[in-house]
Amino acid sequence: MNALQPAAIATTGSLDVEAVRAQFPILATRVHGRPLVYLDSAASAQKPQRVIDALTRFYERDYANIHRGVYELSQRASELHDRTRRRVQAFLGAADWREIVFVRNATEGINLVAYAFLLPRLAAGDEILVTEMEHHANIVPWQLVASRTGARVVPAPITPTGEVDLDAFAERIGPRTKLVAFTWVSNVLGTVNPVADMVALARRRGVPVLVDAAQAVQHFPVDLRALDADFLVFSMHKLYGPSGVGVLWGRAELLEAMPPWQGGGDMIERVSFAGTTFNDIPFRFEAGTPDIAGIVASAEAIGFVEDLGLEAIARHEGELLAHAEAALAGVPGLRILGSPRRRASVLAFTIDGVHPQDIGMLLDLDGIAIRTGHHCAMPLHARLGLAASARMSIGVYNTHAEIDALATSLRRIVGMLR
Ligand code: PMP
Repeated sequence: MNALQPAAIATTGSLDVEAVRAQFPILATRVHGRPLVYLDSAASAQKPQRVIDALTRFYERDYANIHRGVYELSQRASELHDRTRRRVQAFLGAADWREIVFVRNATEGINLVAYAFLLPRLAAGDEILVTEMEHHANIVPWQLVASRTGARVVPAPITPTGEVDLDAFAERIGPRTKLVAFTWVSNVLGTVNPVADMVALARRRGVPVLVDAAQAVQHFPVDLRALDADFLVFSMHKLYGPSGVGVLWGRAELLEAMPPWQGGGDMIERVSFAGTTFNDIPFRFEAGTPDIAGIVASAEAIGFVEDLGLEAIARHEGELLAHAEAALAGVPGLRILGSPRRRASVLAFTIDGVHPQDIGMLLDLDGIAIRTGHHCAMPLHARLGLAASARMSIGVYNTHAEIDALATSLRRIVGMLR
């Protein structure tokens, strides 16, 4: 059994990072002959053994299609699948398991809301309010439905420190605003937005709210009861789970009022050529065979972060991030993007005179994996006057020594190239 036992957590309440690392087989990999230093968890997190084991165990012992067979194996598979939905419900603090819709990823969850919830309510001149710091996944789906109706996507500006300008945000919620959508944590600046305040501003004006929690749920505790939003999305692959599984949470009364999005098996009640009636939520939005094994193994990903404790994860990652800010600040010519009051996991930076792509390629030769480019946030980079940046992001398995290795490599690269 590879699950981290409470004994592996030190009595101070801090996290035993070596015990955590031992659960991730990929961390023993070498890259270009060097130990892997994985600092790209914001793009996707690595997987603990218990998630990998759950995937193989399911295929070896329990695999069958779900919700269709009367035979034992199908019922077993269905039960394991359905168990994850309850797990996600408890993880988020959702009122009802029927509010949890399985999709492919956060992106698909946003598209589902765009087409099934928003599009039928949109008219010419309507507005969807987002922020300048959104990932493309929280911009483009709204643009697609806006372009069909003559509505438009309005960005709320950010401040020079990289936070949402709350006054401007509040001002932009007007009578034509049909939805407000924003990220909890910026995937470039690392800014942790005051989401409860932002939700309250929108709800006070009766405008529904979608929260993009793709960079949030893996870093600190999330409780829907304290949030009061209408929709929330995240991807399991960033939460140490399998790729191919995402979650859309929506208020039951809103989901119930929404028409289906995609048609097919499982989402129907009765089908005839005279007409078709649709299944209840959440099944109405889950047409076709899902990533059954991925959903089953996702329960282990949630178990992994819950066993460690999201408070302990937040503390560990917060310490590392503070260490990274100090270590990177000492690299000549390096500028960290933004200086928000609260930040999680992510630091993006540029180095004067060095192209971000070169930084990424040279770090790779030292076994260090970071992200370079626009990180699917081109409007944010345009706002910052940049085409690209380099980004390091922290997961629960990272160490102070890895941050030091990054800083040392960056100094060497600067010395070489500048
Ligand atoms: N929103 C944010 C803030 C993200 O960082 C990402 C992934 N980089 C997404 C949405 C989209 O996630 P996915 O590609 O898993 O759908």
